[in-house]
Amino acid sequence: MGKSLSFDIAALLILTILIVSCIMRKMTSGTPNRLFLVFISFTWLATVFDIWAVTLDNANSTNLPALYAAHGCYMIIHNFTVPLYALFVIGLTDTWHKVRKSFWIQAVLWGPYLVLFAALVTNPLTKKMFTVEAGYQRGEWFFLIYIVAVIYMIFLLGYVIYYRELLEFSKTLIFLSYIPIGLTTVMIQMVYPTVLVEMYGGAISMLLISLGVQRPEEIVDSDTQLMKYSAYANVMKRNFWNGKNVDVVMINVANLSSIQAIMGYDFAMLVVDDVVARIRRINKLLGNKGEMYHLDRGRFRVVFNGLYHDTAVKAADMLVESLREKTDFKDLDISLKPFVVLARCPEEIKDFKMLMSFGTDFHEKLKYERRVMHVEDIFREDMVEIQSNIDRIIEEALEFKRFQVYYQPIYSVEKGRFVSAEALLRLFDPTYGFVSPEIIVTAAEKSGAIHRIGDYVLEEVCRFIAGSEFRELGLEYIEVNLSVAQCMRGNLADNVLEIMSRYQIPTETVNLEITETAASASHTQEILEENLRKLEQAGVSFSLDDYGTGYSNIKRVIQMPVKIIKLDKSFVDEQHNPKMRVVLKNTVAMLKDINMEIVVEGIETQEMLDFFTELQCDFIQGYFFSKPLPKPEFIRFLEARA
Ligand code: C2E
Ligand code: MG
Ligand code: MG
Repeated sequence: MGKSLSFDIAALLILTILIVSCIMRKMTSGTPNRLFLVFISFTWLATVFDIWAVTLDNANSTNLPALYAAHGCYMIIHNFTVPLYALFVIGLTDTWHKVRKSFWIQAVLWGPYLVLFAALVTNPLTKKMFTVEAGYQRGEWFFLIYIVAVIYMIFLLGYVIYYRELLEFSKTLIFLSYIPIGLTTVMIQMVYPTVLVEMYGGAISMLLISLGVQRPEEIVDSDTQLMKYSAYANVMKRNFWNGKNVDVVMINVANLSSIQAIMGYDFAMLVVDDVVARIRRINKLLGNKGEMYHLDRGRFRVVFNGLYHDTAVKAADMLVESLREKTDFKDLDISLKPFVVLARCPEEIKDFKMLMSFGTDFHEKLKYERRVMHVEDIFREDMVEIQSNIDRIIEEALEFKRFQVYYQPIYSVEKGRFVSAEALLRLFDPTYGFVSPEIIVTAAEKSGAIHRIGDYVLEEVCRFIAGSEFRELGLEYIEVNLSVAQCMRGNLADNVLEIMSRYQIPTETVNLEITETAASASHTQEILEENLRKLEQAGVSFSLDDYGTGYSNIKRVIQMPVKIIKLDKSFVDEQHNPKMRVVLKNTVAMLKDINMEIVVEGIETQEMLDFFTELQCDFIQGYFFSKPLPKPEFIRFLEARA
């Protein structure tokens, strides 16, 4: 009795539809997708050879070469789908780099198949696997096929169990169904040798996998044909879990949402398409090394294997250039505002949570610049670590003398030169790099270390004032910040005066900055007043720092012995607001009327400078003139302008 081809033909149909649908649904990008396509294609090919072989058998063909070729190719290809299946599963866990590195995994992956391959290729001579002379018959080595299948099965189960965290449970069940379905069809075929259900079983499993595991709508964004957020999230989760090095080029186009709000969805979609086209073009130019994702409107990612770091750097550079080019959309000149960040994972971004929180809104935190930005520009991913270790960081900084004092020049409008500077605390920790003085001060106030830090800063400043440069440069005084906790201490005045006298400097050369918070902390009012009075009597002057940020109690301000008011940057930044201009004008006029001197902080532009000089503020401090500088640089800065 001839063998029935019905199941094989059905399998061929199913597989053909699957291949076509994979291609039509553009499931051709991403390693798992590509492997799946290869996997079905080989199964399809095996089915074709099976049909050929069975057709020859059924026709009682005596064409021995054809018979050997048909049966042999069928077996070679069909058995090849087993390691391919293993590759597909490895692809789902994205653990290539482990496989590549491990000789043993490679050996198990290819060894058994190679043995089988050798046996099948030499079969026309050895006739150990099968013979066709008297109709198709199994040879004495045929059992090899089963042994090899069992080896792969054990390997795969082990692999899946080991990497279970990288796989979703329901999906794992679906792709593992290939094994029981395969076993069942093999058994059916053993019992009923004329019913050829093996390929059919394979096709059914692939249909299941295609429906349940390789769901394109979960992976591919239908608008842009790039992979979407969920795919990115899965891939990156796996990368972190595996410790795989990748470079992520993050592109957030900051103004896409406003483009959409003004111009509408369809127009914004055109812009998105254009951005995608540019990303694709650059990726292609660089050899398609990156996997591209579109997370949502305006946020794109290109992920490179860490091996291609240089390519990632180049891609990021090219993207900045390309995305900043103006484009003409429907006769409108549109300039995009792309923020491009290159992040090395896991060196710079340590885990998945960090990656996600970082990626959401870095474009809101950054200043817009025409360059690729890096993680350290924006995000202190070690912030949590700094916060939890801050006490140790501070203690070590004190012990190993890591603190420094920087000086930010203060310009006198009246005198047309720099007459003073603000002393600002700096710490460059060997592990964490720059640690903001605000973090240090807040923590040190709680731990009590603030007093030692305060003494250090004041001593540094006194040493500077006592030196010859101070007078030579025409400096009159240095402003030193006092924290709330320092002001609350009973011996503040004595302590300050003691340090100054140790350096034998005139008390007028130091101006102490206190904040409104310290001034208004009512329970310390008496101690503060006592301290201020003592210091004032000794000749030390005071500034009220950050004026305009707190709860400004004018009455208290008037009562305090402050000579200088420092208008806070946040207040100053609002000078474009017409109402704020009125407030600023009147505030300055009022303060001047009660004989206060005014320092404006945070002046960054000529325009700001002009506005406040016109208001007749006395002193200007800000990046427009200079950032805070280390002492030698500060001296050079002043010398150059003397
Ligand atoms: P602050 O006393 O209001 O110091 C002014 C801050 O504004 C400084 O930040 C300075 O670098 C920054 N700044 C100055 N000009 C500009 C500008 O044009 N643009 C911008 N964006 N910023 C400008 P810094 O050095 O980070 O200090 C932050 C705060 O930490 C200080 O605010 C002060 O409250 C505190 N601090 C710094 N050093 C000490 C210290 O030695 N002792 C105490 N108790 N607190 C300190
Ligand atoms: Mg200050
Ligand atoms: Mg201030």
